[in-house]
Amino acid sequence: MTKKLFKYMFLVAFVSLLATVILVMGVLYNYFSGEISKNLLNEAEYIAGAVETGGNAYLETIKNVNTNRITLIGKDGNVLFDSNADAESMENHSDRKEFIDALNTGKGEDERYSDTLSEKTIYQAVLMDDGNVLRLSATHHTLWMIVFGMLQPIVVVVAAALVLSLILAMRLSKRLLKPVNDMDLNNPDIDEEYVEFGPLLNKIKHQNIMINMQMKELRKKQDEFRVITENMSEGIIIIDNNTELLSYNSAALDLLDAEMPEEGGGSAIYLNRSEAFRKAIEEALSGKHSLQNMELKNRCLQIIANPVWADEEIHGAVLIIMDITEKEHRERLRREFTSNVSHELKTPLTSIYGMSEILMNGMVKSEDVKDFASSIHDETGRLITLINDIIKLSQLDEAAPGMEKEVVDLFDTAKSVTERLSSVAEKKNVGFELYGEQTPIEGVPSIIEEIIYNLCENAVKYNKDGGYVKIYVTNTGHMHGSIEVDDSGIGIPPEHLDRVFERFYRVDKSHSKTIGGTGLGLSIVKHGAAYHNGRIEIKSKVGEGTKIKVIL
Ligand code: ADP
Repeated sequence: MTKKLFKYMFLVAFVSLLATVILVMGVLYNYFSGEISKNLLNEAEYIAGAVETGGNAYLETIKNVNTNRITLIGKDGNVLFDSNADAESMENHSDRKEFIDALNTGKGEDERYSDTLSEKTIYQAVLMDDGNVLRLSATHHTLWMIVFGMLQPIVVVVAAALVLSLILAMRLSKRLLKPVNDMDLNNPDIDEEYVEFGPLLNKIKHQNIMINMQMKELRKKQDEFRVITENMSEGIIIIDNNTELLSYNSAALDLLDAEMPEEGGGSAIYLNRSEAFRKAIEEALSGKHSLQNMELKNRCLQIIANPVWADEEIHGAVLIIMDITEKEHRERLRREFTSNVSHELKTPLTSIYGMSEILMNGMVKSEDVKDFASSIHDETGRLITLINDIIKLSQLDEAAPGMEKEVVDLFDTAKSVTERLSSVAEKKNVGFELYGEQTPIEGVPSIIEEIIYNLCENAVKYNKDGGYVKIYVTNTGHMHGSIEVDDSGIGIPPEHLDRVFERFYRVDKSHSKTIGGTGLGLSIVKHGAAYHNGRIEIKSKVGEGTKIKVIL
């Protein structure tokens, strides 16, 4: 701005200086030309008068005195006398303007330039009484020649003026712009010295208020957005159409296991280099909705990417990243469970179908019919037990209605379970020993009974002939307690300990099946305990026995 102002000021000063010099010289030149012309006329009139009284001889007398050229032209245009040349050798002047004008009006004048334009001759002619014309002429330099002659002083003056205008323009432009440069645009106060800036400063002031208000609003919205997104467990990433990060929440970085991007963002591609993540971005930026699944550090992630449209153009994309590990796990368990259930149901049903078909075709001897019927009865019994266990599990899974908690006593429940299992235990020659005290807890009676029943039934089932089952009930107070079932059975190998609580998991499949196991008992115990926010501890030694404690 200062430079521009200085340039214009200097240019204006220079042009006006040049114009002034040219104008002044032109005016002076015209003035002096006029003066010469006037003097020439006066002199011509004077000499004409003298010639009229003194005759042509007068001309000879002033020939050498007068500096101007004197020419006497006859009526016919022939030169009668010339102070500078031989009159007879001169051409006829009847076509000269000044001569013609003098003949017609009594006076005539003309100016003529030399061939080189370096000189100008002014002619003044007057008509005399005898009809002849007396002409006086003076030659002087043209304006250009004068200027050329004065070039040196003119250059000096112009240069000095230029330097002066240069300095002045520089100072003036700086001074003019100083208040503008010194202006505090955040707090524009009107300076009395520069009231002209008033409207501009008022406008800036108004705009400042508007900008501040908009900034406040923007910051508020940004904070709101940040609070919302930061409290989300889903990751959010917003990018522009060049994949540059515009916004993201910490959940996104956490889920993608990405480092905090450098200040300014950078490309979202660098957050995660997996094929699925890249594909989601590419598809969204090409205008398509994209849904991608990826695995990262034992986690299953789902990426939903959508393009952001504005004015029918893609301006970027929004990516939502969700942790679907739990969902995937459940889905896998459900698939496994369905296939296990079908398998478990199919085996007894196939044998029931086969045996009933043989019976139907009369292919069984009458003495074997009873055995066949008893096998069908056993298989059906197994099916019913299996289906009952499945129902119990699904009730636990879905928190079925009717499972309201109430006060239930662990000791009393354990006692009734041992009574229910006494005949089975007797058959195996296994004795129950119950220790402890009344332990009321808050729970669903049917589930608590199911937990204790399954533990005790397993302790009998997987026991040795003549073994024992010790049950310890401990009251830990505040409606909490624990029950531990110890047996002197076959024990569980350590590598199976973690898995016995899985659905349909059996250490020894054939053994479990012969003794009527469904593979769901400990699963029901695990879900039942979880339903009461309890936990399970298991200790076992092969050949010595198993201890399972449920803390509720
Ligand atoms: P099942 O109906 O087959 O008994 P469970 O879920 O109750 O199924 O038990 C899973 C597996 O854990 C059993 O098949 C068995 O191998 C083992 N198991 C459970 N309880 C005991 C125990 N007290 N002693 C030895 N093994 C046991």
